[in-house]
Amino acid sequence: LLELKNISKIYGDLKALDNVSIHVDKGEWVAIMGPSGSGKSTMMNIIGCMDKPTLGEVLLDGVDIARESSKKLTDIRRDKIGLIFQQFHMVNYLTAVENVMVSQYYHSMPDEQEALEALGRVGLRERAHHLPSQLSGGEQQRVCVARALINHPELILADEPTGNLDEANENIVLDLFARLHAEGTTLIVVTHDPEVAEAAQRTIVLEHGKVAREVINENFDEQQKEWLARLK
Ligand code: ATP
Ligand code: MG
Repeated sequence: LLELKNISKIYGDLKALDNVSIHVDKGEWVAIMGPSGSGKSTMMNIIGCMDKPTLGEVLLDGVDIARESSKKLTDIRRDKIGLIFQQFHMVNYLTAVENVMVSQYYHSMPDEQEALEALGRVGLRERAHHLPSQLSGGEQQRVCVARALINHPELILADEPTGNLDEANENIVLDLFARLHAEGTTLIVVTHDPEVAEAAQRTIVLEHGKVAREVINENFDEQQKEWLARLK
């Protein structure tokens, strides 16, 4: 599904990413960890078609997105990718449900019922008609999760999706990721939280813009089976 080949991103004399190569199969659930400033968000912005690498290729379904026009990148992003940002990027004069519907609008026809259901999946059905300023940070973050999955993207990119959440809400999001994985969605999740990383199949650790190591979760299949059984 996704292959980064010798990606570098250079800002002046800073190499935010330094010759990174990674490969993610369709349906995989991958966590990205690493210290602050190690290049995680830079990499996610490149995979999410919001930024281009200075050097290297980014193949998404065989298309080199590092070389496409920005118009094409916007289309690819809308068709295939669901984004959960480190900053929320909610439209602050629209309610929670309207924020989710904006994302539908770019894809097909907005459908309030469907948007409300998506909010229900993140435990926010009751807060649907509140403005971002009337929601807590954790609630806003969950609206962003609902917005990312509303169009059933093939690939979900999440940058610290649980950074503002307490344990109960973190579990709501992890439950949702487990279900999305079971439905065949590919997930790439940046996190500082070891528990969130342990939910994934594989963790890639970045340090100083390079892949420092990869850790395979040997228990993933069993863990996932138990998790889904618990959700039923
Ligand atoms: P965090 O865990 O704090 O979110 P990160 O791993 O996501 O960190 P990045 O945001 O990818 O880190 O940043 C990697 C490096 O690139 C940092 O040193 C950052 O200061 C630098 N950087 C990021 N964006 C820019 C930019 N637009 N211009 C210049 N330098 C940048
Ligand atoms: Mg970051």
